[in-house]
Amino acid sequence: MTLDPKLRDDIIAAVDKGFDAQVKFTQAMVRHVSTRGNEHTMQDFMFRAIRERGYKMERFAMDRAALAAHPGAGAWDDLHSTAPIVVGTHHPREETGRSLIMQGHVDVVPEGPHDMWATAPFDPVIQGDWMQGRGAGDMKAGCAANIFALDALKSLGLQPAATVYLQSVVEEESTGDGALMTHLRGYKADAVVISEPSHETITRANVGVVWFQLEVRGVPVHVQRMGTGANAIDAAYRVIGELRKLEAKWNATKDEHAHFRHIEKPVNLNIGKIAGGDWASSVPAWCKVDMRISLLPGKTAEAAKKEIVDCVAAFTRGDAFLSNIPPTITFNGFQAEGYELNPGSDAEATLAAAHQAVFGQKPETVTSLAYLDSRVYALFDRVPTLNYGCISRGVHGFDEGVNLPSLKKTTTALALFIAEWCGVEKLDA
Ligand code: ZN
Repeated sequence: MTLDPKLRDDIIAAVDKGFDAQVKFTQAMVRHVSTRGNEHTMQDFMFRAIRERGYKMERFAMDRAALAAHPGAGAWDDLHSTAPIVVGTHHPREETGRSLIMQGHVDVVPEGPHDMWATAPFDPVIQGDWMQGRGAGDMKAGCAANIFALDALKSLGLQPAATVYLQSVVEEESTGDGALMTHLRGYKADAVVISEPSHETITRANVGVVWFQLEVRGVPVHVQRMGTGANAIDAAYRVIGELRKLEAKWNATKDEHAHFRHIEKPVNLNIGKIAGGDWASSVPAWCKVDMRISLLPGKTAEAAKKEIVDCVAAFTRGDAFLSNIPPTITFNGFQAEGYELNPGSDAEATLAAAHQAVFGQKPETVTSLAYLDSRVYALFDRVPTLNYGCISRGVHGFDEGVNLPSLKKTTTALALFIAEWCGVEKLDA
């Protein structure tokens, strides 16, 4: 780092001093039940919190037509969130540094049965080093870290000497359309940081994701004449078996991908939700299965979708029942390509140095098998996009939590990164 050692130490102390407030802010975020489509009050909270810090504010709605015209958009259905996107902008007096987007998503995945949690999912309890709650790790702690890293500079009478955009988005867990909306709105910077709970690593590559729903129709009869009917649930199982073969085929290409070949099974097909039938003693007439499959970088969502449709169609033709009533496939969420972060960018080197100043060593770079919003900025803006944040546990599961000592350290690294990347100037009077 070229940061003056005194300034570096001041920033480290400033993050420490602000950390209690940061933890309280994160708790306030966790109390918002911001599952898909329910993020409006959470975004109001973010809007007010960022505005009161003096940022120039904008909030805008999902532009369904603009999204539909973009190849990276998800599929819009009734479940799609209409919560606004919130962006706060800092303009320096003099633009001498490099601009930056700091992004976080406030949507959280469903919490599941409450009796499977040790504590209430939206009550952010702190026990020892952990704050527990749905979204605490993924990624409300990161959203708060973005704001408080900038607050730390402010508490020293400083501000970034470059434009900084604080983006609070939704739809990260289902389509990625929130991040895409910021791109469509024209926001762009020299680098992007997304403070997902990356376990103190920088994400080198991540998969793309496609969501789809399989719908199988059957012929309902009384079970005593089961042979004369056709069981939609049994038929759905057969199609799933065929899709498992497609998953294996995609995994077999992993050696072509430097960042994925060391992973035993990088492509995962998840049977996420299943519904079907009406009655235990009737042969079920319908079955709907929601699935998610990942794609290795380089495969477009369009190509993946075609392979899925072709795979099911080919199987259907050879199946006595399905060939009469072919199942349908509806794409209903992510239609996202994966990406790889090119090594050697100044942004990555700067973040690695900031991390080293806190942790005493360079961060590892890792491959992620989850969807990440980073792909929007990396694929469509073609700017270095750094996915970096603290240690979490139970993400998308039960007893989700964020590790507070890790959060303080990664927030410190973010503050040092901002100071180095953007430069600093005296705070506006
Ligand atoms: Zn996340």
